[in-house]
Amino acid sequence: MDFSSRIIEQAVNEFARFPGIGKKTALRLVLHLIKQNEQDIRSLSGAIIALKEQLKFCSECGNVSDEEVCNICKDKRRDSKLMCLVEDMRDVMAIENTSQYRGLYHILGGLISPIDGIGPEDLNISGLEERLKKNEVEEVILALSATMEGDTTGFYLARKLKAMGIKVSSLSRGIAIGGELEYADEITLGRSIASRVPYE
Ligand SMILES: [Zn+2]
Repeated sequence: MDFSSRIIEQAVNEFARFPGIGKKTALRLVLHLIKQNEQDIRSLSGAIIALKEQLKFCSECGNVSDEEVCNICKDKRRDSKLMCLVEDMRDVMAIENTSQYRGLYHILGGLISPIDGIGPEDLNISGLEERLKKNEVEEVILALSATMEGDTTGFYLARKLKAMGIKVSSLSRGIAIGGELEYADEITLGRSIASRVPYE
């Protein structure tokens, strides 16, 4: 693509780094921005910078948060004896949208994948044991993807959890979870939480 402006070219290159955005779409976005007023542009760039400068990760569950501890962990009305283990924050959003779950979460931040060199020590597991004891958790729901990585991670965690005397269950199968969890429809996902099955 030939640009008559180096400023435009630079902006297009930045936008083209987003997933799923090619140069043509990037140019369309840039041309759209040129037409915006300065206030809107400042508001947009401020929102982007805040993602790095202000966003925090909850010291309890690892979810994104504006404060040290997230709203879910802080909510005293939630059942702290029930904990759902998920891969990332998108899974939390998807499950929250079902309004069928009132326990807490713990975000692993990934899945065990020997091929990619990702072991248990690379996941957010270190604080998990302490949290389980502190909250006297009675049941853990494994809401992990139905992939080899999800299964490996589930197997590893279930063994640890059962040794701690905690009941382990998993979502009833038949829905896409983990990564695609956000695309599962709310009713199906909500139902699979309500009708969860013991982890075998
Ligand atoms: Zn939290």
